[in-house]
Amino acid sequence: MNLMRRSVLAVSDNGLVEGFFHRNALAKGLVDRFVAGETLDDALAVATDLQLRQMTATLDQLGENVSTVEEASAAVAVYVDMLHRMAAAKLEPNISVKLTMLGLDLGDHVATANMAPILETAREVDGFVRIDMEGSAYTARTLAIFEQLFATFGPHVGIVVQSYLYRSERDVNRLIELGARVRLVKGAYAEPDTVAYQSSRQIDENYVRLMEKLLDGGAHPAIATHDPALIRATQGYATRMHIGQDRYEFQMLYGVRRDEQNRLAAEGHGMRVYIPYGTEWYPYFTRRIAERPANAVFVLRMLLDRSNHAA
Ligand SMILES: Cc1cc2nc3c(=O)[nH]c(=O)nc-3n(C[C@H](O)[C@H](O)[C@H](O)COP(=O)(O)OP(=O)(O)OC[C@H]3O[C@@H](n4cnc5c(N)ncnc54)[C@H](O)[C@@H]3O)c2cc1C
Repeated sequence: MNLMRRSVLAVSDNGLVEGFFHRNALAKGLVDRFVAGETLDDALAVATDLQLRQMTATLDQLGENVSTVEEASAAVAVYVDMLHRMAAAKLEPNISVKLTMLGLDLGDHVATANMAPILETAREVDGFVRIDMEGSAYTARTLAIFEQLFATFGPHVGIVVQSYLYRSERDVNRLIELGARVRLVKGAYAEPDTVAYQSSRQIDENYVRLMEKLLDGGAHPAIATHDPALIRATQGYATRMHIGQDRYEFQMLYGVRRDEQNRLAAEGHGMRVYIPYGTEWYPYFTRRIAERPANAVFVLRMLLDRSNHAA
């Protein structure tokens, strides 16, 4: 992982920096670029607008690790409500969830039990729940919980694989064998070289390898990237292998490469936009900033400017 990305992720842990983003109007403007708003109504309005432009959505209520059973139960209620509200708004009910928000730190059984009512609701409204993949400390546990849930809820639950992890090829083989729906991403967390490729060349090469496997044998894989080279590689492979556009979809994050989102949708590709919303946007936002040097430079300049004025 490059130095810029590591620095941003390290600096972002500082409480003063976080306070700055909550208070400064210019900084808040940058946040609004990546986060659809603070309420579910905000996110539903964005999803409805995308639907008019032939794009689908997956909604993510922002938040990360919870440490009490009560907080985890509150998250269950939120996710159930999101599925119902999407169905009522005539949107395809599709949400992305994090197991740490559902009590994974309290034990695997807590997260698994909390997923059940969410997936029962998904089945009821013919919806879909994607389990986001978090840091590598959670990978094995997340996959084990997924397999257990998949056995009961099959087409209503899906998982994410990160191409920066060495283990991912084995995971993809297993998930293809199961017939599970996979979203392929590069990976957004700071991981050590004991578990993850560090160079973008290796991460990208692995991405292409996994993308090809998923297009060949996966169940409606989601190719989630903004990287033009990887999007071209996917389209090229699909054309060469006569794999129809209906067999996979592209996914991108709200606010990132809107031009490319519009282009792919206009070409008739499935294009799903990941729409994060909520008051707990800070960790998500810093990962987006860390991904792109231009964003990071912009933010560091804003921070420096502020400290010069304060001095
Ligand atoms: C739908 C979706 C779901 C995801 N779910 C997960 C998950 O569950 N777990 C996980 O670890 N990661 C997840 N990610 C994040 C992913 O791992 C990457 O961190 C992120 O997508 C950036 O990688 P990239 O493939 O776009 O390539 P990059 O090499 O990072 O970017 C390629 C190009 O895209 C543009 N771009 C990328 N990011 C930005 C940005 N923030 N701002 C502006 N331009 C940008 C730039 O032009 C850049 O040059 C998800 C990503 C998407 C799209």
